Amino acid sequence: FAGILQLMTDLETLKDLLAEPRRIVITTHHRPDGDAMGSSLGLFNYFIQKGHYVKVVAPTDYPYFLHWLPNNPEVIIYTEKEEESKKLVADAELIFCLDFNTLSRINELGEEVRKSAAKKVMIDHHLEPEGFDDFRHWSISACATAQLVYDFIVNDLKDGKFINKDVATCLYTGIMTDSGSFRFPTVTSDLHRIVANLIDAGAENWRIHQLVYDNSTEGRLKFLGYCLSSKLEVLREFNTAIIYISKEEIRKFNIQVGETEGIVNYALSINGIRLAAFIVERDDKVKLSLRSTGDFPANEICKRYFDGGGHRNAAGGQSDLPLIEVVEKFKSILPEYKTLLLQ
Ligand code: 5GP
Ligand code: MN
Repeated sequence: FAGILQLMTDLETLKDLLAEPRRIVITTHHRPDGDAMGSSLGLFNYFIQKGHYVKVVAPTDYPYFLHWLPNNPEVIIYTEKEEESKKLVADAELIFCLDFNTLSRINELGEEVRKSAAKKVMIDHHLEPEGFDDFRHWSISACATAQLVYDFIVNDLKDGKFINKDVATCLYTGIMTDSGSFRFPTVTSDLHRIVANLIDAGAENWRIHQLVYDNSTEGRLKFLGYCLSSKLEVLREFNTAIIYISKEEIRKFNIQVGETEGIVNYALSINGIRLAAFIVERDDKVKLSLRSTGDFPANEICKRYFDGGGHRNAAGGQSDLPLIEVVEKFKSILPEYKTLLLQ
C-alpha cells in the first residue's frame, strides 16, 4: 500500500509496548458513526485475543443500528459512566484514538485523555491533526479509519492471522459506512482487496448491510418521506439543496440518535446539485451536515463558518444561533462560492 497508507510512526517502540499485556483504552469521536464504532470494536476484538486488558470508551451514545456489532456490550459510554470512564483513561498505559484527530472531538473526555500519562496512539483519516498523539497511523487518502486499523494489524503488526470473524465484521462495517457502500472516490482496488480479505475472514457482507441499512423504524422512514416532500429546498442558482428540521419536528416523528444519518445524501442525489446541507436543531445547538461532489470543499465552509470540519465531500459543524438564523447564514455564504458551485 505504499503511497496510500502511512506507516505507524515509531512502530518498533509501539510493538515493544504491545509485546506484553497492557491496560488499553480505545476511544472515538462524539456521536460515533459506523466507522468510529467499527474501527474501535475491530481493534478491541483484536486486542482481546492478544491478552490485553482493553475497553472501548465512547464519548456519547450511538445509533441502535450499530448495537449488534460483536462485543458491543463491552463499550462504556462516558456520559452514562463518567467516573468509570475517567478512571479507565487515567489508569491506561495506552490510549488508542480512532477516527478523530483533535481532542475537542471527544468532548470532556478530551481533557482526561490529555491529562493521562498513557501513550496516545492516533489512527485517523481526517485533515489537520492537532498533535496530541505519541504514535500516529494517519492518512487522509484512506477511505475509513477501519481501513487503517486493518493496515495496522496486518502490515504493521504482521498479525493478519488475528483477523477473525469478529474483527472482520467490525472493520467491514466501518469501511462500508464510510465509503457510502463502496461508492465514494476513496474506494480503490486496494480497498476492494482488503474487503475481499475481510469477507474471507468471515464478514458476512450482505448481512452487515442489512443490519445497518435495512433496520429502519417506521417513524424514520415516514420522517424521511416528510423531509423529501415538505422540507427540501432547492436553490438552483447555487446548485445547492437544503433540508432543515426543528426540535419540534424531531420530537413529532420520535427520531432517535443517528436516525437523521444519510438523509443529506438524498438532497445531493438531485441532478446538478453540488452541495447539500442537512441542518437540524438539537437540544443545545444547531448541527449542520454538508455533502458535496467533486472538488467543492464542504469542509472549508464548516471550518470557516460553523466551528467544524471534516472531509472535502462530507463535513459537519454547529452553531449556537437559532435554527432559522443558521439557515440564513448558510444561504448568505453561497454567493461567495457561486463560481465553484456552478462549475
Ligand atoms: P456528519 O455530517 O456525518 O455528521 O459528518 C460528516 C463528517 O464531517 C464526519 O465524518 C466528520 O469528519 C466531520 N464532522 C462532522 N461534524 C464535525 C464537527 O463538529 N467538527 C469537525 N471538526 N468535524 C466534523
Ligand atoms: Mn471515518
